[in-house]
Amino acid sequence: MIRARFAPSPTGPIHIGNIRTALFNYLFVRSSGDKARMVLRIEDTDLQRSSKEYERLIFEELQWLGIEWDEGAGKGGDFGPYYQSQRLDIYSKYIEILVAKGKAYYCYCTPEELEEDRQKSVASGDIPRYSGRCRHLTPEQAEVYKREGRTPVVRFKIPSDRMVVFEDVIKGKIEINSDTLGGDMVIQKSDGMPTYNFAVVIDDHLMGITNIIRGEDHLSNTPKQILIYEALGWEKPAFAHAPLILGPDRTKLSKRHGNTYIGQYREDGYLPEAMFNYLALLSWSPEGNEEILSKEDIVKQFKLERVTRANPVFDIGKLNWLNAHYIRQAPLERIAALSIPYLIEEGLITEEEAVEKKEWLYLVVETVKESLVKISDITEKVKIFFDDRIVPEDDEAAELLKGEHVSRLLRVFKEKLLNAGTVDQEFCKGIFKVIQKETGIKGKNLFMPVRVAITGQCHGPELVNILLILGKDRLIKRIDYVLENYK
Ligand code: GLU
Repeated sequence: MIRARFAPSPTGPIHIGNIRTALFNYLFVRSSGDKARMVLRIEDTDLQRSSKEYERLIFEELQWLGIEWDEGAGKGGDFGPYYQSQRLDIYSKYIEILVAKGKAYYCYCTPEELEEDRQKSVASGDIPRYSGRCRHLTPEQAEVYKREGRTPVVRFKIPSDRMVVFEDVIKGKIEINSDTLGGDMVIQKSDGMPTYNFAVVIDDHLMGITNIIRGEDHLSNTPKQILIYEALGWEKPAFAHAPLILGPDRTKLSKRHGNTYIGQYREDGYLPEAMFNYLALLSWSPEGNEEILSKEDIVKQFKLERVTRANPVFDIGKLNWLNAHYIRQAPLERIAALSIPYLIEEGLITEEEAVEKKEWLYLVVETVKESLVKISDITEKVKIFFDDRIVPEDDEAAELLKGEHVSRLLRVFKEKLLNAGTVDQEFCKGIFKVIQKETGIKGKNLFMPVRVAITGQCHGPELVNILLILGKDRLIKRIDYVLENYK
């Protein structure tokens, strides 16, 4: 039975690379049949840097994206606890087993001694590695150290000159010589905490994990983990290391390149389905050429073997393109509900107005929906509907108001408004024909000055919608303001 896991450390706002790892695990599991399971394990042995707040963000972002896990933190299951900080007695048990088997040993070296060793190897041009000084300590020597007050770490014996070979599902055959692994590695620190490379093996084995999918930054850890599996006589899982996501300058995606915290995208108004689609296409593609894919499409077509080895570059332009697409597709109701908090936050409306003027707001959102790349763009796009004191946005707009015929045009427009019963669809659709007939002004000379006079902008949403949104009184107010200030 297939079991994969996502094992984040809650030591910071969850990085987009980690979310992509979660997504690949999810897609792999969901495309592997009903019995396959996705486990969420929280790797919180770094007590200083781990926090409940970062853990909460992990849950929140996974849920937002629709990456549901079957078992583990927040869910429970038969293989818990799913928090490493609650598994310390389990790690201690296996530390003892490895020590008893002669595969691991206590090391009393002080930081100063280790630093001295390191400098020696650097000086002689060798790769720094632990000298193995404590490998053969006699019980008497250990006793002396203990009496000196030294607290030991436990080191795992890395065999010398061993080729560690494994078949990575994405990267192919990987061969690493054990001599390059830095010498006997610490598996339990002096404060009793296990190290990552050790705890991860114990947990993955005891939790029945069959497939490990993670970022290629862990590739150099894998041989160390394989040696621990061997030492404990356990079968190793299958490994797949996904290529790291790069920024546009082809270095590892980091804060320098912009947002790396997924929640920031949510706050900016990216839709989860756009993000899901985009992240899936980072290093994976379906057999066909389609790029707009629903979660179900992706699950149906996903194959780990189709993940490329090349490093993908995070392309905000493509994400924006997808997001704009999904916003256009989404029902007005949903986009309006997502937009309103931004309008309140910007001070354009109050919470009460959001309820009272719901219908009007829906019309406003509908009018600009097609032009949104992300929901937060809404505040800029709808500003034209809030302040009746028109200011031409640029020289081109100001110039358009200066036309000789503009005063006459606006006066006729105002007169028609004053005479209108209500400014409804019918009126808005017919008004320009009427003005044209009466004044002889037509085409650009008619539409552009009107647009600038009532919005301050040369381009924007459908004029008919703008008229409907502003309504009679505010249109008149705006025309008066322009006639007074710019004519
Ligand atoms: N806690 C590790 C990380 O977040 C897990 C790595 C792994 O998947 O083995 O990088």
